Amino acid sequence: MTPYFSQKISDYYFDNKWHLTSSFMQSFPRISLDIISTPIPGLADDRSWIRSGFGNITAASAFAHIRPQFPKVDWGSWIWAPFIPARRSLFVWRTIVGKLPTFDMNRLIGIQGPNRCPLCSAAEETMDHVLLNCPFSASIWADVFRWFLIDQPLPLDVGSMIRFSIHQKNSKQVGNLWKAGVVSLLWSLWSHRNNVIHKNFAPSRHLILKQVRVFLCEAANNFVLGTMANSVSDLLILNNISIAGQPRKPFSYIYVAWHLPPPSWIKVNTDGSVREGRIHAGGVFRNAFNDVLGCYHFSGGQGVAFEAELFAIIIAIESVHRAKWERVWFESDSSFVVQLLQSLSETIGGFFGFSS
Ligand SMILES: [Zn+2]
Repeated sequence: MTPYFSQKISDYYFDNKWHLTSSFMQSFPRISLDIISTPIPGLADDRSWIRSGFGNITAASAFAHIRPQFPKVDWGSWIWAPFIPARRSLFVWRTIVGKLPTFDMNRLIGIQGPNRCPLCSAAEETMDHVLLNCPFSASIWADVFRWFLIDQPLPLDVGSMIRFSIHQKNSKQVGNLWKAGVVSLLWSLWSHRNNVIHKNFAPSRHLILKQVRVFLCEAANNFVLGTMANSVSDLLILNNISIAGQPRKPFSYIYVAWHLPPPSWIKVNTDGSVREGRIHAGGVFRNAFNDVLGCYHFSGGQGVAFEAELFAIIIAIESVHRAKWERVWFESDSSFVVQLLQSLSETIGGFFGFSS
C-alpha cells in the first residue's frame, strides 16, 4: 500500500514539540491551534486501517469497503416469511428489481417477437401491466382487496403495490395473511401467464383466486400467523377468506339471565360506556309483559366508565320521576354503581330495588 502523503507526523513533531511551518500556520490558524493543543504520546508512527475498530485490516472489512453499496429498502424483510415458500418471495424480489422476462424486457436484450399481453390480448406486456394493470389481473386484485376490506383504487405499479402492502395496518394474523395473499397473487398471476403462453391454458380468474385461497389456508393451517384483533373488521376479513380467527386470549362466558319484572312493576336496564373519552349512557324500560315502554340514549362530555354507568342510572331515575312510576326495578351491569346506590337504600330502598 503506497502512502498518500510522503510526510510523517514525526517531520512536524519532535523534541516533544510541534514544528509547524509559518506558512501553514498563517494559512490555517484555527487548525494549527487545534494541532498544537493535541497531545501526542511518545510513540513511533504507524499505519492504521480506519475502517476497523482496532486499526487492523481484515478481509471482511476490506470487502465491506469495496463492495457496491445500495440504498436500504423497506421491503427487504417484508417479502420473506416462514409461511411463504422461498421461491415465491424470490419471485417478488425479481419483480421489485425489474428482472422479470416480460416481452418488453426481452426486446431490450435483443429477443425479437410479438409483444402482446397473453391475459387480455389487448395491450403490450410489461411487468406492471401483466401483474397489476391488465383488466384481467386488476379484477382479481379488486377481489382480494374486497376480501381484506380495502376500499381504495389499485396502486399504479408493482413497486407502489408492494409499498402500499407493507404499510397496511393490520393485526398480526390478518397482516400475515395479507402479506401471503399479495405475494401468492403476484406469483400466481405470473405462473398463470406462463401457462397461458407455454401450455395453452385459457386465462381463468377462478383458478387464480382458488390458488390464492388454497395458499392462504395452507399458511394458516401449517404456521403460527399470530393473533387477530377483537374487531368486526378482522372477523369479516377472516370470514371472507374462510380462515378461523386466532383470538388474543380465550373468550370467557358469563351466564346472564334476564327476568321479567313482577306484575305492576317496571324494569329498567341501564348501561354506560366510554368511547374515545366521551361518555355514552342508555337504558330500556319494560313492563311485566315484556312491552318496551321507552328507551333513552345520552352522549355526554369526557368521563370514565363508572361515571357513564352512574349517568345512565341518574337519567333513568329522572325519567321514572317524570313518569310518576312507583314500582321500578333498576338493573345495571356495574356492581360498583349498584353498591353505591344500595348504600343510600335507607332513604330510597322502599321505592327502588337494585340488582347487578
Ligand atoms: Zn393484459
